[in-house]
Amino acid sequence: MIHFQAFWQPWQHIMVNVLYALIGITIIFAAQFSRSRFSLLAALWLVFYLSLEYTLPWSAWLKSHKDWMLLTGVGVFALFSVIKDRGLLSVHGPGRLLFIAMCGLVAHLWLWASDLILGQVPKTDPAYDYVQLLSLEVPVVLASMVLLWQSLVKANLLLSALLVSFIIWCVQYYQLIALPWEVILTVLVCHYLLVVVIDSYFLAYRDELTTLPSRRALNQLALSLGRKYTVAMLDIDHFKKFNDTYGHDIGDQVLKLVASKLSKVRGGGKVYRYGGEEFTVVFPGKSAAHAVAELEILRQSIADYKMVIRDPNRQTKQARNGSKNKGMKTVSITISIGVAMRGSKQNFDRVLKLADEALYRAKKNGRNNVSQ
Ligand code: GH3
Ligand code: MG
Ligand code: MG
Repeated sequence: MIHFQAFWQPWQHIMVNVLYALIGITIIFAAQFSRSRFSLLAALWLVFYLSLEYTLPWSAWLKSHKDWMLLTGVGVFALFSVIKDRGLLSVHGPGRLLFIAMCGLVAHLWLWASDLILGQVPKTDPAYDYVQLLSLEVPVVLASMVLLWQSLVKANLLLSALLVSFIIWCVQYYQLIALPWEVILTVLVCHYLLVVVIDSYFLAYRDELTTLPSRRALNQLALSLGRKYTVAMLDIDHFKKFNDTYGHDIGDQVLKLVASKLSKVRGGGKVYRYGGEEFTVVFPGKSAAHAVAELEILRQSIADYKMVIRDPNRQTKQARNGSKNKGMKTVSITISIGVAMRGSKQNFDRVLKLADEALYRAKKNGRNNVSQ
């Protein structure tokens, strides 16, 4: 933004008006898509911006309490990284506002306490410089650790948007970049909008458990396929028995593992979770022979894979702590695959049906194999 100043500076006055509209859209849009944290953030930015631009009753106070502003903002970002999006107009709405007010109060108390501590240390004391860090730098570093940790653990776009907001907030305070707020906020609010849109797209088209594209995405792909393609249906063998033996939770873990193995398919294959323990791989523009070679590699890699799971038969906590491998068990799983290539005048549903019939044959042939 700094580098391209010449381009945006003539538009700055328009940006101010666009900004209000953008913030309004973000507040409504994010609330509509159940991303209440971003509605609240956009609303907070609006209040902040209005307080800077106009002389509101509290504007002078805010401008003379920059340290408090920094800490409150830092606290709000850290808080937003750990709480969930709950309905703004639900019973949780006032709770959220209370949380934000608490951040302001805690920031105030913190500054007051650190001033008190600093007052006890003579300026000539070599420790003075370190104690000085207590008021701002220590809480900022702590909050950044919370945000970084949450971004790493949750690894989603919403958290990254919070992290970016936090960084910009700190960078502006320490005046490491010199950009007007309307420019920063325009970019930031666009970022929020984009994040909410992309996140909603993923919600609609990704399967939550395996993070593979869902059946809806498969139907979408079917509309854009050409004349030549091959479809494979994959099904985990004896999965019901596996669930009965190890429990549904471990079954879910295994589904995730299988999905991550399947996602490594090469040769142009696209993997989808069809439903339950069934997956679909589509090879656009590829022949059955090509697909079978790739699927054979997948089948083998899954059959060879020893999955470490918790043994449901372990008894006591002591037994679990006794030795590292006690309570752990390795299991193998196999998959059966049915393959069909599109013939002339066949639609996608027909090819899928043929692949399903081939899968049935694979099961009849003793499972753990690829049938055409
Ligand atoms: P086959 O070798 O003939 O495919 O036997 P199967 O037991 O795998 O076949 P079936 O289709 O009868 O059973 C599918 C089972 O998959 C039923 C259900 O317990 C399990 N399952 C389906 N979806 C999920 C899921 O999301 N999580 C878990 N843990 N299990 C699932
Ligand atoms: Mg099945
Ligand atoms: Mg099965």
